[in-house]
Amino acid sequence: MGVFSSADRDGHTHVLYGADDASGLKAIIAIHSMALGPALGGTRFYPYQSDDEALHDVLRLSQGMTLKNAAAGLDHGGGKAVIIGDPRIIKTEALMRAYGRLIESLGGRYVTAEDVGTTAQDMEWVSGETKWVTGTSTAHGGSGDPSPATALGVFSSLVAAVDYTYGSSDLSGRRVAVQGVGKVGHAYVGLLVEAGAEVLVGDIWQPAVDRAVEDFGVKAVPHEEILFADVDVVSPCAMGEVLNAETIERLNCRLVVGSANNQLAHDDDADRLLAQDIVYVPDFVANAGGVINVADELHGYDAERVMRKVQALGERTKDILESARTLSITPNEAAIRMAMARIAAAS
Ligand code: NAD
Repeated sequence: MGVFSSADRDGHTHVLYGADDASGLKAIIAIHSMALGPALGGTRFYPYQSDDEALHDVLRLSQGMTLKNAAAGLDHGGGKAVIIGDPRIIKTEALMRAYGRLIESLGGRYVTAEDVGTTAQDMEWVSGETKWVTGTSTAHGGSGDPSPATALGVFSSLVAAVDYTYGSSDLSGRRVAVQGVGKVGHAYVGLLVEAGAEVLVGDIWQPAVDRAVEDFGVKAVPHEEILFADVDVVSPCAMGEVLNAETIERLNCRLVVGSANNQLAHDDDADRLLAQDIVYVPDFVANAGGVINVADELHGYDAERVMRKVQALGERTKDILESARTLSITPNEAAIRMAMARIAAAS
């Protein structure tokens, strides 16, 4: 892979590789944009099959954070980091501290938080080495795990999209299939059940399925089938690129809204969804609750202010869906235009 050509780096301004032999750390931090302020985005700890796969993921994720932070009205650019390896096997305090020193070397250009495979405990270890970290526990002056805020944002977007699609925001009896019941998915299922929705869940990690079934009485579906269930709404809350030419054809729903980052394998998958008359709420709009939550920590955390901003994602979703209809474009394109207009106005 080339390094400096604009096409290869997708316009990113910084890509930092960090390794620490003593702890086994192998990490990549990517900053896509600082047009609106310091880059903000979480750290994914994942057993990538290759370094190239990790690079591909971090570049896409940090680009997505530029759009997400801009669309959410935050004064932050886009950045993201990946740590390569299985967190259940290699994660230690020493490794997370070495990672903290890597973040510190960027002098505040990048601020981190949790993502897949990282927790508030990890952020506390990181905070031993750098102040450029959010999502530490409330006991340590942070705002804790951002996942409940992310779940609330996805739920608010879902309610708005259901209202837009069916002319009523009532969720009772609506069938929702949730792919991935980890930190976000589990909290989101709780909100759905409370609102009267009929929920199906699927996850590759059986203990996560068991917990959702036990806590909420929802129905488990084999993880290979969950996306294709006959439902009103599919909510991808696991990994990215699950909506592609092959899977979209097999969807059996009217709406897609979920927390997973980069749900579309390619931008033209948004056209495929539209052609099948499926309303797609752009992931970077629906899942901004977590970053809204952690960004607030940098300004003296106020839980009520966060709640208001996160619930406002419903209004934003409605505006984007209406703007897409008016302009005859996909909601994805409408959301990208909105985010880019904000960046252009500020730069
Ligand atoms: P998590 O690791 O806690 O949960 C992910 C769950 O998905 C796990 O239970 C895992 O077993 C499951 N999973 C993985 N691959 C699967 C597959 N192919 N089929 C079914 N299940 C699968 O992660 P999380 O923090 O809940 O994040 C979920 C998604 O939401 C990720 O894409 C993440 O980037 C995104 N997101 C999270 C936050 C947040 O606040 N945590 C914020 C914004 C976006």
